[in-house]
Amino acid sequence: MDFELNQEDKEFAEHFRRFCEKEIGAVAGEVDESGSVPRSHYEALGAIGYNGLLHRREFGGQEASIVQATVAQMILAEACGSTFFSVGASCGLFGGPVASYASAAQKKSILPTLLAGKLIGCLAVTEPDTGSDVSAIRTRAKRSANGFVLNGQKTFITNAPIGDYAVVLARLGEENADSKGSLSCFLVDLHLPGVTRGKAMRKMGLRASPTGELFFDNVELAAESLLGAPGQGFRMVMEAFAMERLALAAYCVGTMKACFDDSRRYSRERKAFGRPIAKHQSVAFMLADIKTKLEAAYLLLMETAWLVDRQRAEAVGGKSPSRLMHNGYVIDINARAAETKLLASTYAREVTNLAVQVHGGAGYMEEYRVCRLYRDIKIAEIGGGTSEIQKQIVAHAEIKRVGV
Ligand SMILES: Cc1cc2nc3c(=O)[nH]c(=O)nc-3n(C[C@H](O)[C@H](O)[C@H](O)COP(=O)(O)OP(=O)(O)OC[C@H]3O[C@@H](n4cnc5c(N)ncnc54)[C@H](O)[C@@H]3O)c2cc1C
Repeated sequence: MDFELNQEDKEFAEHFRRFCEKEIGAVAGEVDESGSVPRSHYEALGAIGYNGLLHRREFGGQEASIVQATVAQMILAEACGSTFFSVGASCGLFGGPVASYASAAQKKSILPTLLAGKLIGCLAVTEPDTGSDVSAIRTRAKRSANGFVLNGQKTFITNAPIGDYAVVLARLGEENADSKGSLSCFLVDLHLPGVTRGKAMRKMGLRASPTGELFFDNVELAAESLLGAPGQGFRMVMEAFAMERLALAAYCVGTMKACFDDSRRYSRERKAFGRPIAKHQSVAFMLADIKTKLEAAYLLLMETAWLVDRQRAEAVGGKSPSRLMHNGYVIDINARAAETKLLASTYAREVTNLAVQVHGGAGYMEEYRVCRLYRDIKIAEIGGGTSEIQKQIVAHAEIKRVGV
C-alpha cells in the first residue's frame, strides 16, 4: 500500500492548495460572518475541477479516484468548512444520486451546470419527526395522471434555502406504504409551484452553509422525476451516506491539520513565564496529542479511500463487492466508511478542543481560526448519521460477518 501521489496528482494538489489558501481560506472568517458561501466559490471550485472530481468526463467531471478526491477534500476542508459542506452537498450528496440514477436527458441538463457551480442541489431525507431512523419518513408521493403528487416536509437540509433542485426521499403509493420497500427518490425542481422553504436556520457552526426546511404541498411531478425504480430509495440514500461519511472524515482530517498548524505556530510564538508556551510540557503534550490523532485519522481515511478504489476496480472486473479481502479479512466497505467517520469525528472534536486550549483566551476569540474550527466541527458527529448510528453499523457488520 502506497499513498504517495503520482507527479500529476501532486501538482494538482499543490495547485489546489494554493488556490484554496488564496481564494477560500483567506476569506473564510468573513464568509462565516456573512452567513453564506458566495456563489463565486461554487463557480471557482467548478472551474478548477474540484466539483467534478468524482463525476464522468462527459458531464464536465474528472473521473478521479477516491484517493485523489479525498486529498482535495482535505485541502478544501482545511480552508473553509462551510464551503466544503455546501459544495459537497450540491455535487456529492445531490450530484451522486443524479449521476447514478437519473435519465440520460436529466444528467445532460443538470450535471454540467451543477459541476460548473451555476446550479445548487441538495439531498432531502431528514424530517421533523425522524432523522436517524430514515425508514420512518412520512413525505409521500402518490401516482397521478401525469406522474406523481408530492406532499410532506423536510428539515435540516444543507442548501435548502438556496437550492435549485433536490433529491427527495418519499414513500411511494398507498399499498405497502409503510414498508422500506415503498421508499423512493424523486428529482424535484425546487422552483415548482407548491414548493416553499424556510429561512436559513441559525446554527452553532458552519454558519455560511445554509441549512433549512423544505415544504411540499401538492407538488406535481412528471413521471420521469422518479429516480431509478420504485422502492430503490433507501439503497440510494445509503449509498450517498457512505460517500458522505468518507467526505466527512476528510473534513475532520483537514480541520485537524489546520488545528495542528495554528497550534504549532502559536505555541512557538507565545511566551509565558519567560519562554515559549511550547516549552511547557503540558502544552507540548497537547501538540503531541493533536499530531497523533491527525496522523491516525489520516491513515485510516487514506486506507479506506484506497479500499473503496479497489472495490470499485473489482466491481468493474465482475467480482462481488461484498467479498473485498484485505489483510485476510472480508471488508464491509460501508462499515469501514462508518468506522472512519466515527474515529475521525471523535478525534477532530477532541483536537479542536485542544487547539483552543493551546491558544488560551485567544482561542476563544473569533479573530483566531481555531475558534471557528471548534464551533464547526460538532456537525461531524451528527451529520451523515450520528456517531451512535456509526457504531451500530460497525457492530452489525462484525456480528453478521462469517469466519475471519
Ligand atoms: C448542519 C446540518 C446539516 C444537515 N444536512 C442534511 C442534509 O443535507 N440532508 C438531510 O437529509 N439531513 C441533513 N441533516 C440532518 C442529519 O442527517 C440528522 O440531524 C442526523 O441524521 C440525526 O438525526 P436527528 O437530528 O433526527 O437525531 P435523532 O435521530 O433524533 O437522534 C437524537 C439522538 O438519539 C440517538 N439515537 C437515535 N436513534 C438511535 C439508536 N437506534 N441507537 C442509539 N442512539 C440513537 C442519536 O445518536 C442522537 O444522539 C443535517 C443536520 C445538520 C445539523
